[in-house]
Amino acid sequence: MALVVQKFGGTSMGSIERIKNAAARTIAAHAEGNRVVVIVSAMSGETDRLLKLARDVTSVPDAREMDALAATGEQVASALMAIAIHAQGHRARSYLGHQMRILTDSAFTKARIKAIDASRVVETLAGGEIVVVAGFQGVDEAGNITTLGRGGSDTSAVAIAAALGADVCEIFTDVDGVYTTDPNICPTARKIDRISYEEMLELASLGAKVLQIRSVEMAMKYGVPVHVRSSFSSSPGTLVTHEGDLEQVVVTGIAYDKGEARVMLVGVRDQPGVVAEIFTALAAHNVSVDMIIQNVSVDATALASAGGQGPHTDVTFTVAKNDLARVRDAIAEVGRKVGAGDVRYDEDIVKVSVVGLGMRSHAGVAAKMFRILAEHGINIQAISTSEIKVSCLVATKYTELAVRALHEGFELGGDQAATSK
Ligand code: ASP
Ligand code: MG
Repeated sequence: MALVVQKFGGTSMGSIERIKNAAARTIAAHAEGNRVVVIVSAMSGETDRLLKLARDVTSVPDAREMDALAATGEQVASALMAIAIHAQGHRARSYLGHQMRILTDSAFTKARIKAIDASRVVETLAGGEIVVVAGFQGVDEAGNITTLGRGGSDTSAVAIAAALGADVCEIFTDVDGVYTTDPNICPTARKIDRISYEEMLELASLGAKVLQIRSVEMAMKYGVPVHVRSSFSSSPGTLVTHEGDLEQVVVTGIAYDKGEARVMLVGVRDQPGVVAEIFTALAAHNVSVDMIIQNVSVDATALASAGGQGPHTDVTFTVAKNDLARVRDAIAEVGRKVGAGDVRYDEDIVKVSVVGLGMRSHAGVAAKMFRILAEHGINIQAISTSEIKVSCLVATKYTELAVRALHEGFELGGDQAATSK
């Protein structure tokens, strides 16, 4: 008898019909002899609706009260799910975060889970009932209701699966799995059968928003197999698991992210401490930086050590578009100090990335990526790499072209994929 955790997202809970459908899937898993715990999200659109209500009252709602408000979406959903299971003749019991006791820190609107007390769940399961848990919410030491950040019920589900030692955590959603790239812009995108946690993290953080990033980190840490699948079909989706369980392919997927902006400080003094100064100011304003480029000329270094006036350099970096206001504040403080002559902002960029575990052992992926972009006349504005990823910054107008060209160039589409292993 297996222990199965199932999570239904907002779309899967979007109407009474859909809740009934989700309840039927849960009952089917239970009827197969499994112990079943279901985590639910609020009905689609509900969290947005609740948050807007508060913002209609004031532009600066209190974070503690925002969580008390937002958590009601999942309270409604969990009760309805239990009622839907009862209506189909089966036994179920719902628990809220504080009833089960999902203990979090007190960082309202983005709390982190510290501990899970699964004893009531274990008892209820032992009594033969299906357990329904409200996702997205927890409780802090002081008894305040907290929420885990947008998309947080994925993390609730994985955390509960880890605490219970579940055999699988099934994430039911409105897509049938994780794709080699965004099917909306690349018609030959193909569903991936199995993917490693590491690759999934890169794809998720690069804008393939199927799972909350934190849930993937947690699944990796505790070794929880995560099965992403459609709530509207019975075919298998994508299994996110350890790389040891995977057949090695060099490139697994192409991701793109339009959420970043490029900032260039022109003519900064080229001497020790200057870059530290800039990025310390950014950090003090709570800005996370992604790509960084500094052009240092050999001649310039020689000049500087000869004690001359000192040469200048350009420092370029990317940040989340949402952080631009804070970047401007930081630069206002530090720009003059480091001698920046000019600051240029460009929001018209996209980061396109090639991701795959096989890059660790195969040379030439970056070269191939650059060549494909060049062949399509796409200029690269910045590059960054990690062990399993190469990212290039290009103009937004090239998004579709770049993604399709790379997807085809790395033979990720349809039937070709079978021969590219
Ligand atoms: N209902 C929450 C949200 O919309 C949590 C979730 O759906 O995972 O962000
Ligand atoms: Mg979600």
